[in-house]
Amino acid sequence: MQMQYDALALFSGGLDSVLAARVVQDQGLRVLGLHFVSPFFGKPDQLEHWSRIYGLELTAVDISERFTRMLLDPPNGYGKLVNPCVDCKIEMLSYAKELLPAYGARFLISGEVVGQRPMSQRRDTLNLIRKRAGVADMLLRPLSARKLDPTPMEESGLVDRSRLLRIGGRGRKEQLELARNVYALPEIPTPGGGCLLTESESAGRFYHVLRYHAAPEHTDFQLANLGRQFWAGSHWLSVGRHQDDNERLQELARVGDYVFDVQGFPSPLALGRPLRDGAWSPETVRDAAALMASYSPKAVRSGGMVGVAVRHRDQVAEVRVHPSRDTALAWSEPGTDGLKEWKIEQSEARSGRAQDAGRE
Ligand code: SF4
Repeated sequence: MQMQYDALALFSGGLDSVLAARVVQDQGLRVLGLHFVSPFFGKPDQLEHWSRIYGLELTAVDISERFTRMLLDPPNGYGKLVNPCVDCKIEMLSYAKELLPAYGARFLISGEVVGQRPMSQRRDTLNLIRKRAGVADMLLRPLSARKLDPTPMEESGLVDRSRLLRIGGRGRKEQLELARNVYALPEIPTPGGGCLLTESESAGRFYHVLRYHAAPEHTDFQLANLGRQFWAGSHWLSVGRHQDDNERLQELARVGDYVFDVQGFPSPLALGRPLRDGAWSPETVRDAAALMASYSPKAVRSGGMVGVAVRHRDQVAEVRVHPSRDTALAWSEPGTDGLKEWKIEQSEARSGRAQDAGRE
């Protein structure tokens, strides 16, 4: 039989999420922490460890597909990089709400703090998130609860409001004090949960997929996270760094992809994924083969042409190339140049669609 809980808590592994769940659990209520996992965040392998050191019951929830659908066109736009924080919270809370009956739980907990983040944790944004997620009457934010209006859970006496907190603003002093002196946490986690969408290098990788892929799926973002990444316009090439990457590249390969393997020398595998322009020309295939072969030191040291096997749609052909990082297509690693302009275009297109919908 499924275990019964009083509340489900959003649990990223960041300090605020630990404290929010503990504050409610310490009132004698049974709390289950939901740890959402996607190509962008989530460390399910840490759950057992976290559960032990923080004294919480935790479970992983894969949100990859619905999160990716939202990421392609977040109604409230992106933050500093490609992080759609407002819609991310809405998506997670909506999903958590759907899970309530399965655990017999009556309300939700999140570790948001009023005024902590410039955009996603402003008071008006917190209200918007609550409403859009449809959780206005079942969401408790224990860290800032006494700065906010009482929720039905407090009004009914299910939760003792006097034992909730009134933390606000950007400082971390109160949270650190609670972690050290009240809960004596053996490890103090970092403030956030470690989201790749907010990190410049990863954001550059994801931005290229968003920009050039007409309909990316979550596995495209898993691929973007892997090994060395190169782009030449909308041509996308992923090169393994080690054996684990090579195995993962094989797993992620799809019909229509090109899989490159240098013949006669130890080398990484590479995977070319055609996007908008369809199948690659023979010149593009040769160019990509020359680039990936340049990551085989022995092939480079051989000083001559090398053979690269290229598998495409169950056919394997060999091309002969000089390993080189200076090829005609001028592949480059994906950065965030152009991201700002792209986000403005996206936002204008979104407003245009909203106006059109309003006129209909
Ligand atoms: S940082 Fe990442 S996980 Fe956190 S709210 Fe923003 S998008 Fe979501």
